[in-house]
Amino acid sequence: MEKKNIDWANIGFGYIKTDKRYVSNFKDGQWDEGTLTEDDKVVISECAGVLQYAQTVFEGLKAYTTEDGKIVCFRPDLNAKRMSDSAKRLEMPSFPEDRFVDAVVETVKANAAYVPPYGSGATLYIRPYMFGSSPVIGVKPAEEYQFRVFATPVGPYFKGGAKPITIKVSDFDRAAPHGTGHIKAGLNYAMSLHAIVTAHEEGYSENMYLDAATRTKVEETGGANFLFVTKDNKLVTPKSNSILPSITRRSLVSVAKEYLGMEVEEREVFFDEVKDFAECGLCGTAAVISPVGKIVDHGNEICFPSGMDEMGPVTKKLYETLTGIQMGRIEAPEGWIKVIG
Ligand SMILES: *Cc1c(COP(=O)(O)O)cnc(C)c1O
Repeated sequence: MEKKNIDWANIGFGYIKTDKRYVSNFKDGQWDEGTLTEDDKVVISECAGVLQYAQTVFEGLKAYTTEDGKIVCFRPDLNAKRMSDSAKRLEMPSFPEDRFVDAVVETVKANAAYVPPYGSGATLYIRPYMFGSSPVIGVKPAEEYQFRVFATPVGPYFKGGAKPITIKVSDFDRAAPHGTGHIKAGLNYAMSLHAIVTAHEEGYSENMYLDAATRTKVEETGGANFLFVTKDNKLVTPKSNSILPSITRRSLVSVAKEYLGMEVEEREVFFDEVKDFAECGLCGTAAVISPVGKIVDHGNEICFPSGMDEMGPVTKKLYETLTGIQMGRIEAPEGWIKVIG
């Protein structure tokens, strides 16, 4: 198969239309058999549930080429499960988890020419999503839904190495207690846009959100979970019912325990303790880990000892081990790597 003529190292993180996408429709209480299509347009009622009341959930994962030339993706079964959980919370039908994984595999296979080569730093980003497609005007769940998967090549997240970022403690809340912070729903992002645009205008890369009820505990950023490293080399990651359960974070916790022999604490993290940590990072599919060098809380700066030039040593080890597992340089735990072709 011939690869597309794309400048992999310089494509950035934007949408590039690929050849095929997967579509399945839910009607009369069931999902149809689903199909790949070249049609990148969605045609739905002007009154569709997604357009009126934001009834939509999504996932994000990557396919990439390993050192030995295989196309793989990372733990898609966990994306399938999470999307099912997200759908239930918004009164949407679950897309069967085995069919979710098959749809991802089919979509990647059909767009294999867009999977960047090993070593390019680029990957094929996969976006499964689902939305209420039938008309809804009185507030209630839609009766019909569409599940789709498209893929788009994305460039290396860090060009020229991962530089630590500066983030701010936000005055906005991301998620209410008992709300929807733990599901991957577009609505959580719509309402975070003002906060992130504001943070960017002020010169910060991201927002640190605190728990909405007490504003004393660390939750997450708009799209990544926190990792902290203590001065005595323990990994600490915040636990809360309103944090999105990041697959990268869960994988890094396993890597820390099983590969690096670290002690890991998944617990409530008070903002007051953050100043005592040695390292801080953000984790998610996009970057795996982004190192945080500085956190600014209304003029008070917390500067981590790892500094603003490079990743802290423990963060770096975690990053290299997980990316090594993903790229086939280090043996993966059973079931983590789904070989596509
Ligand atoms: C998707 C997402 C993450 C990261 O999850 P991964 O599964 O690691 O990609 C973290 N926080 C939020 C709010 C997210 O939507």
